[in-house]
Amino acid sequence: MTEPQPLSRWLDTSRARLDRTELSPEAEAIGRVVHLADGIARISGLPDVALGALLRFETGHYGFAQALDRDTLDAVMLDETGTLSVGGRVTDTGEVLNVPVGDALLGRVVDPLGRPLDDGPALHSGATLPVERPAPSIIDRAKVSEPVETGVLAVDSLFALGRGQRELIVGDRATGKTSLAVDAIINQKNSDVICVYVAVGQRTTAVDRVIAAIRQHGAPERCIFVVGNASAPPGLQWLAPFTGMTMAEHFRDKGQHALIVIDDLTRHAATHRELALLTREPPGREAYPGDVFYLHARLLERAAKLSPELGGGSLTALPIAETNAGNLSAYIPTNLISITDGQIVLSTHLFAAGQRPAVDVGLSVSRVGGKAQSPALRAVSGRVRLDYAQFQELEMFTRFGGISNPRVMDQIARGERIRALLTQPRYANLRGVEQVALLSALGDGIFDALPVSSLSELRRRLPPWLDTHASYAVTALGGGGELTPDLRARLSELVRDLAREILPEDPAK
Ligand code: ATP
Ligand code: MG
Repeated sequence: MTEPQPLSRWLDTSRARLDRTELSPEAEAIGRVVHLADGIARISGLPDVALGALLRFETGHYGFAQALDRDTLDAVMLDETGTLSVGGRVTDTGEVLNVPVGDALLGRVVDPLGRPLDDGPALHSGATLPVERPAPSIIDRAKVSEPVETGVLAVDSLFALGRGQRELIVGDRATGKTSLAVDAIINQKNSDVICVYVAVGQRTTAVDRVIAAIRQHGAPERCIFVVGNASAPPGLQWLAPFTGMTMAEHFRDKGQHALIVIDDLTRHAATHRELALLTREPPGREAYPGDVFYLHARLLERAAKLSPELGGGSLTALPIAETNAGNLSAYIPTNLISITDGQIVLSTHLFAAGQRPAVDVGLSVSRVGGKAQSPALRAVSGRVRLDYAQFQELEMFTRFGGISNPRVMDQIARGERIRALLTQPRYANLRGVEQVALLSALGDGIFDALPVSSLSELRRRLPPWLDTHASYAVTALGGGGELTPDLRARLSELVRDLAREILPEDPAK
């Protein structure tokens, strides 16, 4: 307990403190909410607000300035507007939106403002960065030259990804888009790549499933989950990909490597359209505002491989887009295809025929990744794509029957085996050495005499088999080593041995 001070002494000290205090008038512009609906607040009385500025409402809500008019501005609310009402006061914080970045985020589930959605501690004590940041300039970039291995044979062998590349995953509803991206994230448990999964407008159950899968099969302690669910305010959903990019860029700029999956940009475009219509921007094609291309271009441009002077870090982006009835020429898919460095197209038709992942080899392309493919994999995957494409054409013709040319029959047999190899269950990621072994054996015709149905078991048993019988190859190729002719022959031989083991009576010599 402190002694009660006599009043005179208290007055003296207070006066002395007042004398020391420097007082100056400070003007603060205060606006008023004049209209409030659908997550948008129209505000008057704030003439000097910049586009994208963060506004604070007297109720503690936040929003950002989206459309500026002469007398009013429209702010997109970042919280549910429950207690906010027309007439409420608004001030400009003078800041743009910032989100926390750094190692503290690893393993966490956060909303697009960086607020935890798991039961971990708050994250605002560390460093923060703006959600909108300029993309690295051409001079700051280096060529994409190292691979990002997804562990999915169809991707790594045919449409290899490079660190710093932007590759679109596009397909109809429920064709395995999310699964493919999640497999790519899970495979990074064997690499130094940090992953950011951004959910935009997804159902909570779907997001929970993704997080659970990565927790079970991957390295969640090196992943960040940014979740703007379908039930979140549209402003938050809109922000999610930008937040994810900022969080991933932090690692890129430190010279590390990051991979961002944005699931998905079609929903993001729809949210952008919704906000634009509510803020009375003129609608253009398919009612999207004219800047939707710029929106996604400026977002995806931030994925890059940095030059050695800047630390050589990389940020690879795997945006996802949904098509309707396979229509790749709709507005948003074409935009995204032209922004990215390639696309992996998933087809409903192949999915229905049991091909998983349902990659359409004819429509998919990777424009830069081939150069980044590991030399060993490049050495054995050269012919696969051509053989497979020819097979698909031949298969169409032979459906009508009557073709008995032995060369054609051989090509078809080979193609069926390629298809069986490219069919891969979820969470069954293959390491580089297994992919090389399978494709070497394919090239040497080892599978031609095997029944197609035996290949899935062969693939399942290959990893422990190689660990036991070829640990030197596992180490050598795991470190990006060359595939010498001896090594190739040995791997092929090992696959033949395994095939004999599976089918002892098999005539494959
Ligand atoms: P949506 O349009 O709803 O987002 P999507 O295209 O993301 O769907 P997923 O949810 O990834 O598709 O997958 C759809 C279904 O296909 C899931 O049930 C998933 O388990 C299954 N699936 C996807 N890939 C594979 C695979 N490689 N092996 C087996 N099943 C798979
Ligand atoms: Mg999905």
